[in-house]
Amino acid sequence: MLVVFIGPPGAGKGTQAKRLREHLAVPHISTGELMRNVESSQTDLGNQVGECLRRGELVPDDLVIGIVEQRIGQPDCENGCLFDGFPRTVTQAVQFDHCLKTKEKSLDLAVALSVTRPELISRLSARGRRDDTPETIANRLDVYDAHTLPLLAYYEQRGILANVDGTGSEDEVFERIKQAIDRHVTETA
Ligand code: AMP
Repeated sequence: MLVVFIGPPGAGKGTQAKRLREHLAVPHISTGELMRNVESSQTDLGNQVGECLRRGELVPDDLVIGIVEQRIGQPDCENGCLFDGFPRTVTQAVQFDHCLKTKEKSLDLAVALSVTRPELISRLSARGRRDDTPETIANRLDVYDAHTLPLLAYYEQRGILANVDGTGSEDEVFERIKQAIDRHVTETA
């Protein structure tokens, strides 16, 4: 099964994707983690990516797509995978669809986690990651609204969007996600 998790920073994409990885027995791919790996390579590219991360800006689409294409070509993705933090722009989503088509695959479901902005700010401030400073948090939330939110309409049109309320305990949210996936599996069976 091929699933993407969409949601603003702090919505719980990483936490939930890791739990779902066990449930669906497919790898979990966090593009944020892939980008942090590129950053630590201490090359020119690494410095360029690091600059985007520090500012809370998106890494350029072509670079992200190239890295994702390489990753899904690995044998462990043969039976699908879960993306967390990808795609983040409509361009990425369109290019991703194209890339999957050439591999005779297609996306099964886009899970969109929603959480209110004040709740996100409070969760991110408590997390303390290097890009969780107040300025970067505000920028990442604005970037999400401007560039990533339009993805929901894109996937809704395709009939593969599952909106999930991301508030409440981790267990509650996980139950909602499992229900959305089961519903999708039943509908498409
Ligand atoms: P995350 O760990 O998902 O919050 O991602 C951390 C940072 O990595 C983001 O703020 C972006 O700078 C970068 N990043 C992660 N995924 C993407 C993506 N799909 N497109 C562009 N930039 C990304």
